[in-house]
Amino acid sequence: MTKSRTGRFPASLDAVAPGARAGAGATLRPQRPLAEAARDQRQQTTPTGLGLDGTAVRSRMVDRLRADGVVCEPVLQAMAAVPRHRFVDSALANQAYEDTSLPIGLGQTISKPSVVARMLEWCFLGETARARGHLGQVLEIGTGCGYQAAVLAALSRHVVSIERLGPLHQLARSHLSTLGVHPVRLIHGDGMRGHAPGGPYDTIVAAAGGEDLPPAWLEQLALGGRLVAPALAADGRSQVLVIVDRRADGWQRTVGETVQFVPLKSGIA
Ligand code: SAH
Repeated sequence: MTKSRTGRFPASLDAVAPGARAGAGATLRPQRPLAEAARDQRQQTTPTGLGLDGTAVRSRMVDRLRADGVVCEPVLQAMAAVPRHRFVDSALANQAYEDTSLPIGLGQTISKPSVVARMLEWCFLGETARARGHLGQVLEIGTGCGYQAAVLAALSRHVVSIERLGPLHQLARSHLSTLGVHPVRLIHGDGMRGHAPGGPYDTIVAAAGGEDLPPAWLEQLALGGRLVAPALAADGRSQVLVIVDRRADGWQRTVGETVQFVPLKSGIA
């Protein structure tokens, strides 16, 4: 990764005033029931070390990710730079650097930091990403509140991110513009169709899982590119990470760890 990429997240980003609402063990579980998050919120006492900008807690989060085996330095650096607390409701900001998913509205959640780190680490092991040291042209399906899109922006040349739920698309737009994150193109649409005009993509990453990978994603993957997405496992019940590399002789599919993402749904709302 080049210096200028991490440079998109200077410490001064944190200085932007937040709005009231700015904006493998065995199974990776990015999602968590809302009741559970609310209970944890009630149990939380003093926000520890969030301070004005969260730099200290963020660096502790990254230390924990390292201790848990995340080794991809560009991913760790990007996660150390992106203020995750600015992507959740201010009432949940004191939980933002715990390894937990949090509600972002409409029954959706911001993925756990460890899951984001693991997915992006897989992306970095693709042929093009390894050769270039960054993720190139990226397609993200499932923008949610925009957190992972912001991390991706620090690791790539350009990001196209699609969200099917209008209010979340707007929320992500507000978060990313408040923080001055670029270059990210946010699209309100059905990510199952990908976004052909922005392709082909060196990296495709999905934050929602369906039965199988939509054909549009495979078609829009560039030669040398890598796709990382949750999909139904062979047992027809659990979900696994599927990694697809596009080579000159076709698409090579590898199955990764068991995961638990929200469902990939068709159409927009
Ligand atoms: N990337 C987010 C995770 C959001 S959760 C983060 O940084 O934490 C996954 C999101 O995928 C939800 O917001 C859900 O609405 C969205 N989603 C599900 N199916 C989709 C589809 N077909 N197209 C676009 N977004 C979709």
